[in-house]
Amino acid sequence: MLLNFLKSKDLAGKMVLPNSPDYDRQRSVWNGLIDRRPAAIVQVSTTDDILKLVVVARRTGLPLAVRGGGHSLPGLSTCDDGVIIDLSSLNKIDVDPIARTAMVEGGALLGNVDAAGAPHGLVVPAGVVSHTGVGGLTLGGGMGWLSRRFGLTIDNLRSAEIITAKGDVIHASDDNEVELFWGIRGGGGNFGVVTKFHFGMHELGAVTTGTWEYGLPQSRSALLRLAEFAKAAPRELTTAFNMTDARLSVTAFHSGLASEGHKHVAPFGKLADAGSGTHGPADFKTFQSRSDDSARWGRRYYAKGGYLAKLDGKVIDCMLSAIKNTPSSDCEIYVIQLGGAVSEISDEATAYTGRAAQYYWIVQPIWDDADLDVECLAWGRKIAAQMASFSMEGNYVNEQADFGGELALKAYGAQKFRRLQRLKARFDPENLFRLNQNILPKA
Ligand code: FAD
Repeated sequence: MLLNFLKSKDLAGKMVLPNSPDYDRQRSVWNGLIDRRPAAIVQVSTTDDILKLVVVARRTGLPLAVRGGGHSLPGLSTCDDGVIIDLSSLNKIDVDPIARTAMVEGGALLGNVDAAGAPHGLVVPAGVVSHTGVGGLTLGGGMGWLSRRFGLTIDNLRSAEIITAKGDVIHASDDNEVELFWGIRGGGGNFGVVTKFHFGMHELGAVTTGTWEYGLPQSRSALLRLAEFAKAAPRELTTAFNMTDARLSVTAFHSGLASEGHKHVAPFGKLADAGSGTHGPADFKTFQSRSDDSARWGRRYYAKGGYLAKLDGKVIDCMLSAIKNTPSSDCEIYVIQLGGAVSEISDEATAYTGRAAQYYWIVQPIWDDADLDVECLAWGRKIAAQMASFSMEGNYVNEQADFGGELALKAYGAQKFRRLQRLKARFDPENLFRLNQNILPKA
């Protein structure tokens, strides 16, 4: 049916069909658990291609998925028997070093943005793995090493170009389509395809980082000390840790004045007697790809997260008991510090919910053997439910490997969810863009 409406010759980009030799490669997404067979993957190269695909999806009723970096945990950027708008060729980035802005196309990856800013010493605060897509990350919020200093990725978004379900091309900003601009800063891909993000950039300064490993027996006291130090830390400093059944690994990241870095980072190497590791000056771009390999494409992943108001003995005990019996040695609990600039913006200012949180946790089983699917998924769900009992209301839609049901309602809270539903009814009344943490339209 699709081919009655869509011909390759009508598109500037490339259409990959099930009989194409590279179909299997093109249909794969980051999470190896996801195995879907779309009717067509279109590597769009113009806005016009996207407009055509929106029309075709409306006419045929075929599922429509939008793919940026392909990192959606539940595989929301692909589908069975539908059409994929693959934005990966729309990855141009223009940095204006004088205005300190970056125009970033909707299919760019975080590493592309870091690379474009590096020669000018400028950054857009984003995530911690360089092959993640700017599109999905930004539309959900975007947290990482620079969030405490410069805010979430959305806090640095000045405007965006969006193609809506009705086929309009809208420039949303604080001056134009203000409600839509509110909604795309946290509301995910619900409102259309974002073809361009216009970001403000910041001068990064010098980066100092340290990573240390502690044995599990030292972890309780080490993390209590980490919580103490982190509380007193300036916003230039961010800490994160991950725990596996073998060890606790703590990272401290500082950016700004080189002379301040050592002072703030070094204490995290002395959280307990037996810490092993080093600290020193670091290249930001290199640091941003340090987890690229462990989080590589094609492994099997599940993840679920939540916000913590504080890191105390009860949460630490929960993590320590959870990590004792993991079904794979790569099952981990990861925690990153928030607060700082993120918390200074009102929760009402954007659709993103959870600005008061001081930490974000993620329970993340990672494995390679399909025989471990059931066990790893069960471990992830069980431990996430335990962690949720210590967590604040609201959640980050981007770090959830489940979807549907009441997930979006619970993530945004009733009031914000209702506001998002009205916005959805205005821009996508038929729910064409439903492969996301979906908000059902309701006027
Ligand atoms: P995709 O799978 O391409 O898309 C995800 C969703 O966004 C889909 O619903 C898709 O339709 C929609 N979408 C994507 N691009 C567009 C667009 N241009 N217009 C409209 N809709 C679009 N999050 C953080 O905040 N900080 C982190 O440090 C971080 N690290 C991560 C590391 C890894 C390895 C992974 C897998 C995820 C990480 N995340 C992080 C979560 C990440 O923000 C989400 O997975 C995000 O959805 C990824 O975006 P993507 O474009 O790669 O995904």
